[in-house]
Amino acid sequence: MARKSRKTEGSRKANSKLNGAHPFRVGRSRTGLGIFATAPIKKGTYIVEYTGPLLTNKECDEIPDNRYLFEVNNRWTVDGSSRKNVARYINHSCRGNADPMIRDRRIRIKAIKNIEAGDEITYDYGKDHFNAYIKPHGCQCDKCREKRRKERAEVRAANARKRKRLERKLARAAGTPGG
Ligand SMILES: [Zn+2]
Repeated sequence: MARKSRKTEGSRKANSKLNGAHPFRVGRSRTGLGIFATAPIKKGTYIVEYTGPLLTNKECDEIPDNRYLFEVNNRWTVDGSSRKNVARYINHSCRGNADPMIRDRRIRIKAIKNIEAGDEITYDYGKDHFNAYIKPHGCQCDKCREKRRKERAEVRAANARKRKRLERKLARAAGTPGG
């Protein structure tokens, strides 16, 4: 908790016009809070900036557990844990409709699909974050839920086939004289 803040680097705190009027709102999602479009957002549009103080990657190594750290290059990381950083509420999806674009140590979330009003805005957090924070609890994105649903359906179908085979076998055995 005794973490140095980089006051001398105040100008590094990213802010932009992007975070003015939003075509989205914070709302309830499957996993807590999420960001939902309030108007259609065209593919290619920058939606929001992921903001926060810049820390060196070395400084971040000393922070015990902060899932809002966002590495922007081999030297710098944005600490997006402040609630003022609305973009921190964007949830992970393995098949997101947005993607973070990094340029000049700034992270801007861009729509990579046409997003309809009411849609949750999501992006792929990347493998490291996924393995550390999401995989242990099971990913709740649409793609993974659909995959698990199919897997369960396959298991059910296989069990049903097994049961049928057994029933036929029992029926044959019962029909065999002296059996
Ligand atoms: Zn997923």
